[in-house]
Amino acid sequence: VSYYIGLDLGGTNIKGGLVDPDGNVILEREIPTEAPGGPAHVIDRLGMLTKQMVQEAGLDLKKNLGLGVGTPGPLNDDASIVLAAPNLHGWKNIPLRDELAKRVGVPVTVVNDANAAAFGEYWSGVGRQHGIKHMVLLTLGTGIGAGVVMQGRIFAGAHGAGTEMGHVIVVPNGKLCGCGQRGCLEQYASATAVGTLAAEKIKAGGKKTNLPANPSARDVLVAMGKGDELAVEVLDEVCTYLGLAVVNFVRIFDPQLMVLGGGMAFLGETLLGRVRKVFEEQTWKVRPERVKIVAATLGNRAGFIGAAGMTATAPLA
Ligand SMILES: [Zn+2]
Repeated sequence: VSYYIGLDLGGTNIKGGLVDPDGNVILEREIPTEAPGGPAHVIDRLGMLTKQMVQEAGLDLKKNLGLGVGTPGPLNDDASIVLAAPNLHGWKNIPLRDELAKRVGVPVTVVNDANAAAFGEYWSGVGRQHGIKHMVLLTLGTGIGAGVVMQGRIFAGAHGAGTEMGHVIVVPNGKLCGCGQRGCLEQYASATAVGTLAAEKIKAGGKKTNLPANPSARDVLVAMGKGDELAVEVLDEVCTYLGLAVVNFVRIFDPQLMVLGGGMAFLGETLLGRVRKVFEEQTWKVRPERVKIVAATLGNRAGFIGAAGMTATAPLA
């Protein structure tokens, strides 16, 4: 039997797995990235994890169906070089594809991690459950990652940059984003934004709250679940931005599923219900909407599963 191998390179951990041709995970492992060791060390670890998994499963690495790596940060046009990865120490213009191929002796496919997560959810998660071909994923975490699946393939754009929907501008001259633009969606609707917005409201002395002066995003998300008044106000604001973003993305892509994942998705219906409400209030009444707004199902496994699958399914470009 032959499998796809997927790796997901994160700032803290590398996750990896063997995935069968139908998208089922056969084996999965996780090791620390050890990013302070620098790019060459991290690539060594990617190679080591690959060999370890193949050996554990009693397979021949040369007979694998594909080896894919999801990485943060932008890639060059032929996806051989990671141009920059802010969460990985020293990662600037790193020829990951060829360096890893050298270590493992088989070809490597490098993909953007947000696209990998979207493809994973499509191939093996919520997309498969719904039997659909067109899907948009927003990953609500430190930032907002995004991926678009069209006709069962990732939409990569003309320059392979993919879709950076966390950086659509929602507030003219708004908050400065790490990307250099002002007013990006991720400044208003990511998990990080939740923490920042709560701190602003606490400082301004608004609604009643049990939160500390500088709450983490996690603090606020937990308080939301318990009905903390200030946290709920934050959630309502965040969901207004998210709901409007969903309207816009549905207008552009006409997907069958709009999927919300990432750290904030653990709020489940508390989040989804609010987003759906904003969507329904704002969207067209000229014909019934058929898109479903749902939660991702694979959690942080989506990345390696999608990276595995994307070795076989070239992006639409
Ligand atoms: Zn931005």
